[in-house]
Amino acid sequence: MKLNILGHEVEVVYPTEPDEELMGLFCPERNVIEIHTQNPNLALSTLMHEILECINYFLELGLKHHQITSLETSIHQVLIANPELNSYNDPRLKEDRHALQARTVWKSGRETDRV
Ligand SMILES: [Zn+2]
Repeated sequence: MKLNILGHEVEVVYPTEPDEELMGLFCPERNVIEIHTQNPNLALSTLMHEILECINYFLELGLKHHQITSLETSIHQVLIANPELNSYNDPRLKEDRHALQARTVWKSGRETDRV
């Protein structure tokens, strides 16, 4: 699976030989998120955590690890407690300039990757 995170193409992989010491990992050199946990109940929150690690890296936010973990837990809780968010598809988003801009950055990022 490939994610667009702030216009960067980040691949999410599930290693065939997971490291039992790790839940997940974001590798900025390869733009890859590895999900190592074998516990399906922890996979989504681990993915959230690594997405936040990406954002922290790309935006140079300087968030400490416990802050990233707090945000991960919070966003995961909101997503799980509000399943309607999973199918959120407001047609007004099509008119949202920020959404259009994000898609443009994403597209140009992909074009750059092909060069
Ligand atoms: Zn972390």
